[in-house]
Amino acid sequence: MGFSGLPVPSGVSHATEVSYIMPSNYAHRIYGDAVYSALSPSLMQRIEPYMPLFRLGLHGSDLLFYYQPFRKTPLGRMGSGLHHFSGRAVIGCLLEAVDDLPEEQQDAGMAYVLGFVCHYLLDSACRPYVDRLEAAGKANHLAIEGEFDLWLIVEEGGTPFTTDPVSHLTGLLPEDFEILAALYARLSRLSYPDAPLKERPEHIVSAHKWMVIVNHFFSSPRLWRRAVAVVGLMLSGTYEKRKGVLYHKSPDPAFEGCSRQLYALLMDAATEAPAVLEAVTRRDLSPRFDADFGGTIPK
Ligand SMILES: [Zn+2]
Repeated sequence: MGFSGLPVPSGVSHATEVSYIMPSNYAHRIYGDAVYSALSPSLMQRIEPYMPLFRLGLHGSDLLFYYQPFRKTPLGRMGSGLHHFSGRAVIGCLLEAVDDLPEEQQDAGMAYVLGFVCHYLLDSACRPYVDRLEAAGKANHLAIEGEFDLWLIVEEGGTPFTTDPVSHLTGLLPEDFEILAALYARLSRLSYPDAPLKERPEHIVSAHKWMVIVNHFFSSPRLWRRAVAVVGLMLSGTYEKRKGVLYHKSPDPAFEGCSRQLYALLMDAATEAPAVLEAVTRRDLSPRFDADFGGTIPK
């Protein structure tokens, strides 16, 4: 059991469970764009009608971090806990859930799952490097990932305070949230095998709404909004640990080398992704999915 009471695979410590709470929303978005543009025309056409679901899928179960973000909930804990399962367990479970959806919802469900696969591929490709930096005392992983997001924004020609990191998370329909509730209800069988959660669409609506609100506060050009975010982190007792998620004016040059290395890992992971996604649509999960979201094989 993890510290939160959430069942996790054996060999996972309290400390590693906490460390999985990672933002990098902008990196996941950039990665998803790179992968999508390299897909075969037929797979692109299959995803295209459901782009809002694909784009939300890019954030994987990080979405659940934002469900009632000011207190610990079983659903919120599931967001981090799922990162400790192998990609095979999580993506396999999602594919089963898609197959159980009404036929008219299955393409939409698959678009979300393919976005989720992108989340897995990027997390598992980058996380070992971030962990090594953290272990070497460079900074905590939130600061490293936060700096990477800012570096990406500037490389893309933007500026941190005028770039909305969640502007791509729009356009979801009420029926999309029904699909998401069904998928997460199935995933909760992994996290809570004895008493799976009964996800309702309003839970996912709430997580999505708070994901947008929280990220707007963390990245706002308005000082008072960022001050509210600082107070919120202080009240939750996590300011020191999580201050790296707050945007600042420009990336810290001390992190440029790390960000370049992370970008190289991102691009490598984008190169492998189209073939992996094609295989997933055939329910073919290669040994690549044996690792967890941190890039290590669960015991
Ligand atoms: Zn994640």
